[in-house]
Amino acid sequence: MIFDTIVAKTTANGTSAINLIRVSGNDSLEIVNKIFQGKNLEKALSHSAYYGHIMDKENTIDEVMVTVFRSPKSFTTEDIVEITCHGGNFIANEIIKLIIANGGRLAENGEFTKRAYLNGRLDLTEAESIMDLVNAKTSKQLKIANSQLKGDVLRLIENLQDDVLDIIANIEVNIDYPEYDDVEEMTNDIVIPNINYLIKKIDKILKESNTGQVIRDGIKTVIIGKPNVGKSSLLNTLLKEDKAIVTEISGTTRDLIEAEYNLDGIILKLIDTAGIRQTEDLVEKIGIDRTKKAIDQADLVLLVLDQSSNLTDTDKHLLSLTKNKARIIIGNKIDLGTKINLKDEHIINISAKNNVGLDKLADEVKRLFIDEKLLSEDYAIISNLRHIGKLEETKLALEQALSAAETQVPIDMVEIDLRKAWTSLGEITGENSSDDLISTLFSKFCLGK
Ligand code: GDP
Repeated sequence: MIFDTIVAKTTANGTSAINLIRVSGNDSLEIVNKIFQGKNLEKALSHSAYYGHIMDKENTIDEVMVTVFRSPKSFTTEDIVEITCHGGNFIANEIIKLIIANGGRLAENGEFTKRAYLNGRLDLTEAESIMDLVNAKTSKQLKIANSQLKGDVLRLIENLQDDVLDIIANIEVNIDYPEYDDVEEMTNDIVIPNINYLIKKIDKILKESNTGQVIRDGIKTVIIGKPNVGKSSLLNTLLKEDKAIVTEISGTTRDLIEAEYNLDGIILKLIDTAGIRQTEDLVEKIGIDRTKKAIDQADLVLLVLDQSSNLTDTDKHLLSLTKNKARIIIGNKIDLGTKINLKDEHIINISAKNNVGLDKLADEVKRLFIDEKLLSEDYAIISNLRHIGKLEETKLALEQALSAAETQVPIDMVEIDLRKAWTSLGEITGENSSDDLISTLFSKFCLGK
């Protein structure tokens, strides 16, 4: 595909030692050459760096290094020139203005990666993994993003597509060439076990994706408990540790995530911390409605009890409110006693004030949400909600194919559902994706990526 030439600063705004400006497109060498004093870039070798100056007519704008990547061996597969200039926004903006004046256009968010995708250099899952790499905050997130960038998810999906296509192809041969004796006739009875096998395979991938999704997106967590059990103390002890990432996102999103805590590589996204911090207490003064809402929004509830006194009615009420939720029951103030023991329920005993026992909390979160085995192996794991949604669609289409086959409808009717399954898989990799989806997806990328 032939596109115009785009330019953007790839480094973040603000003062820094250097900035990197990326120019990609058919005319990138010609355009930068007009403002570069040094090597004649039209004769530059690929993957080479040149020293020189960016000039606005006779005026020197900056002393720079220019790196040339010739098509097709570049990130976008187009000719790319990268200009490494001095830091600060002013110089970079001057250079970008010159490039635009000479025929370039300011890139949209994610447009470089979009081109890499449109030009076939990356599939959609690989392109999406680049944003995950940029956003990674833990080594586990990095590992999953890197594996996706390597094409592990792509291969997993292509493998499923091959399985679906195999069945479709056999049905087609039967429909088109019924006279072929050497081709086994595809009947519903032959198709049924094949579809069943595929559904099982997708089920396994979906089950494993729970771990991937938790690693990628974190766990929305709420801390609840009656007044004075130590909720604020727990929150503060968690957030005081160096590894805590306190984002304090103020805003109006529906489920407000106010702080993030990196619990041994798993991000706990703490919601409704305002409820905890308020002196009027969440449960008794603000009312149970808000607690219920917070519980509903959370993936995980940390229910704090006070080990220095007996179980109260409020405790019992909270225990029953959360009984169908992923929850961890925490017995705080263990330094003052262990008065509470619950039948059939495990209590993690800690002292929030003295920072005792919080490591057991990490083990419990992992036990509930993570299949560690999957992370220790070099294993393809789906983590992106969009991919998970499409896999669920695929599974649904296969289940429809299965029930059609079981009711012995003509085999070409079964094929319709199989084709739907195949299409959903193609939407994961971008093979069958709409322009709208592609635009929306890349617009979420940052400028210069
Ligand atoms: P909240 O109302 O649930 O947020 O409770 P706070 O975190 O404000 O704690 C209430 C009181 O219990 C404070 O005086 C804390 O210092 C105290 N506290 C919290 N955790 C512990 C603990 O592990 N041991 C002891 N002895 N006191 C604690």
